[in-house]
Amino acid sequence: MNEKVRIRRDVESMSAYTPTTSLDVFAERLGMDVHDLIKLDANENPFGPSPRVKAALANLQHMNVYPDPESGRLRELLGEYIGVPKEQILCGAGADELIEIIMQLFIEPGDVVINTPPTFAMYGFDAPLYHGRVVDVYRREDFSLDADAIEAAVRQHDAKLLFLCSPNNPSGDMIEAGDIDRLLELPVTVVVDEAYIEFAEGESLVARVGDEANLIVLRTMSKWAGLAGLRVGYGVFPSELMPQLWKIKQPYNVNLAADIAAQVSLQDVDFLMTRVETLVKERIRMETAFAELPMLAPYPSQSNFVLNRVIGMSAEEFRERLAGAGIIVRYYNKPRLEDHIRISAGTPHQVDRLLELLTQLTTS
Ligand SMILES: *Cc1c(COP(=O)(O)O)cnc(C)c1O
Repeated sequence: MNEKVRIRRDVESMSAYTPTTSLDVFAERLGMDVHDLIKLDANENPFGPSPRVKAALANLQHMNVYPDPESGRLRELLGEYIGVPKEQILCGAGADELIEIIMQLFIEPGDVVINTPPTFAMYGFDAPLYHGRVVDVYRREDFSLDADAIEAAVRQHDAKLLFLCSPNNPSGDMIEAGDIDRLLELPVTVVVDEAYIEFAEGESLVARVGDEANLIVLRTMSKWAGLAGLRVGYGVFPSELMPQLWKIKQPYNVNLAADIAAQVSLQDVDFLMTRVETLVKERIRMETAFAELPMLAPYPSQSNFVLNRVIGMSAEEFRERLAGAGIIVRYYNKPRLEDHIRISAGTPHQVDRLLELLTQLTTS
C-alpha cells in the first residue's frame, strides 16, 4: 500500500470474510435458472415477507426525507409484540448492527469477549474490529455449553461480554435454564442472541431483561418475518444502558423501507406465524427423514434449520452433490464442524425435492 495511506495493520493482515452468496451468483455459478434453485444455506424465510409488506413498499412515501432516528412507532409495535416497554428497545440495521453497537459500548482495547463456538460467526468477527480480544470456550461434543469452562474463562480474563446464541446457530439447541441462571450470576454482561426464538418451543429471555442488570437480548425480523434483505433487528436492554446506547447509535441506522416493512409485519403477526408453524413442521419432517438416512446424523433442533454430521463421504462432497441438483446447503470448513452441514427448512415443496434427491443419493 502507498506509504501515505496507512490503514490498520491488523486489518491488512486479516483474511477476508465470505458471507452467503446471493441467488443470482449461485445461479450463474451452477449454470441454472434462479427459479430452479432451492436456497437452504442461510436460514432465510423461503415464503418471503408478508404480502402487506410488498404493498406498503410499493406505496412508500417520503423517501427524500430521513427516517425517524428513534424508530418510535416501530419500537412501540415491537414492545407490544414482545411485552417489553419500548424504552428498553433499540433498533438496528439487523441484529448484526446491534452486535457492533454493543462492542462499541463495552470494549476498550484488549478487553475480553467470551465466545462459545461452534456458534454464529459475527461475535468473533466483530470483537477484534473494536479492539476486543476473543476467548473461545468450545462447546461440548453434543454442542451444549460448558458452563464450568465459561465461568473459569470469565473470571480468569475479567471478561466484559459473554455472547450466547439460543437457539444456537448452527447446532439448533437452546441454552438450558440452569446454565443461564448460573451464567447471569457472573461478573459479566451476557448477550443472548435469539434470532430463531420464534421457531423454538423454549421461552424467550426478554421478560427477564431489566430484572437482571447484566442481560441483553437480541432479536431480528430477518428470519421469522422474512425481512433478511431489508436489515432490521433489535435489542432489549436494561434501562440503565439505554441513554448510553442512544449516545453512540448512528442516527439513521434503520432505513425508511426497513422501518415500514417491520411495522407492517408486526401488524400481520398471526399470518406470519402460520408460516413459522409450517417451517417448524418442515424442520421436524427433515429431522425425521435425515435420521433414517445412512449418510446423515441430525442433531435435535429448536429452530428453522438442522445441523447434520455427514457419514461415508466428506461434507464438502455432499454439498457439491446437492448443489449439482440446484439445492444449496451450508458447509463449514471450521474446527468441530468439518464433517457437518446445516440445512434450512424450506417450503413443503422444496423439502419434498430435497428428500427425493437424498433418497436417490442413498440408493445410487
Ligand atoms: C441470521 C442471524 C442473525 C442476523 O440477524 P440480522 O438481523 O439479519 O442481522 C443474528 N444472529 C444469528 C444467530 C443469526 O443466525
